Amino acid sequence: MSVCEVCEAGTDGRYLCGRDAVQLAERLAELPVLYAELVQCLVPRRSGWGEIVATRGAAGPRSPLNEEVLDEMGTGGMAAVVHAWRVDVQRVRWPQHSPPPPGGLNGDCRWLGMELEWIASHYPAAGGLAREVRELERAARSVVGDPVPRRQRLGLCVAVTDDQGTVCGAVLSRLPGEPVRCRWCGTAYRTEQDLLLLQHYQPRESA
Ligand SMILES: [Zn+2]
Ligand SMILES: [Zn+2]
Repeated sequence: MSVCEVCEAGTDGRYLCGRDAVQLAERLAELPVLYAELVQCLVPRRSGWGEIVATRGAAGPRSPLNEEVLDEMGTGGMAAVVHAWRVDVQRVRWPQHSPPPPGGLNGDCRWLGMELEWIASHYPAAGGLAREVRELERAARSVVGDPVPRRQRLGLCVAVTDDQGTVCGAVLSRLPGEPVRCRWCGTAYRTEQDLLLLQHYQPRESA
């Protein structure tokens, strides 16, 4: 059996599960947008290389100054990392072609996005690519002050799923502000009453 290189879920011979392939596609689409925001956050102090200050970075608690990213930005790190992945994917897929010239972050992200189906099924380093793109996104968000929203864990689904009284028991989670709906059995917890019942019927920790 093969497993996803990122989350270790079972896959049918693929390097990435469907969920991680979709997340990688979303991140590749998002990176150029974040990059543009990042550039807005950073302005050269004087004309010259390497002198970069954060204009919005120090303004609030949500915008910590991330020296590492500032450093990467100064040397075009994000674009270079993504381009290196494009070169490698192309090398594995079409060994006879000469490597692509630097095409800019936009072009490289779009290219990788279009090859994603092949990457998820045939590219042995797909897990490394997915992890590195996730890391770039996280680092960029920590500078622009727009952190990836975290899922809230609400407990276990208490819906009865058959006439023998079997309880669903799947983990319920949501993004802040999202409606609560079990992704396993489809039960929606809409009202305050539903959520109170959910809390009430949570299995006790056996101590
Ligand atoms: Zn996965
Ligand atoms: Zn459920």
